[in-house]
Amino acid sequence: MHTSAARGPGYSRARSPVSYLNCPVCHLSLRAPRASFMAPEHCPRCIGRRRVAIPLVPSELPMRHVVANEAPPEDSPRSLGREL
Ligand SMILES: [Zn+2]
Repeated sequence: MHTSAARGPGYSRARSPVSYLNCPVCHLSLRAPRASFMAPEHCPRCIGRRRVAIPLVPSELPMRHVVANEAPPEDSPRSLGREL
């Protein structure tokens, strides 16, 4: 048996600088799709709940991590014991 499929599935995966879209208002985090034209421009939750179109902020981290990094630990009501 001689196969040359040496490269793993993650070999040619390009690293995009942005992988999440965060809403600064409701802290919703969406995974950014590969094709940028498929990415929503506004937060669907804020549109659904308040009828307000909040522009999503692209980020490398989901909103939970961004908030966790900025906010002091004692300010968070529950501690997040999970990390990806
Ligand atoms: Zn929102």
